[in-house]
Amino acid sequence: MDNENIVKTHEAAEQTTEPAAETRPAREPREYRPRAEHSDRDGGRNNRRRKKVCQFCADKNNKIDYKEAAKLRRFISERYKILPRRTTGTCAMHQRELAEAIKRARQIALLPYVPE
Ligand SMILES: [Zn+2]
Repeated sequence: MDNENIVKTHEAAEQTTEPAAETRPAREPREYRPRAEHSDRDGGRNNRRRKKVCQFCADKNNKIDYKEAAKLRRFISERYKILPRRTTGTCAMHQRELAEAIKRARQIALLPYVPE
């Protein structure tokens, strides 16, 4: 039983590697095209991936309030899930407050739990 399985997986592995080995040399003789976009790339982190800063730390007047559903909406995904810190840039302290506020808002039906 075990032997059969080993043989089968071996065969599968060979079958998957073979076509790849055949197609690879066919691709290689392509002309080398220097790409202009490459030069102004600063290590892959340009425009789109700017340094995120906590919106609540940046603006002291910007308070987290569970009654302001419109404001909380920015920190929720389209499926109404609380967005992670890594996407919004919110600091740990404010993320905790934010999560609390969103949960409160849900409970009093200012925000939905799930999309309809
Ligand atoms: Zn903060």
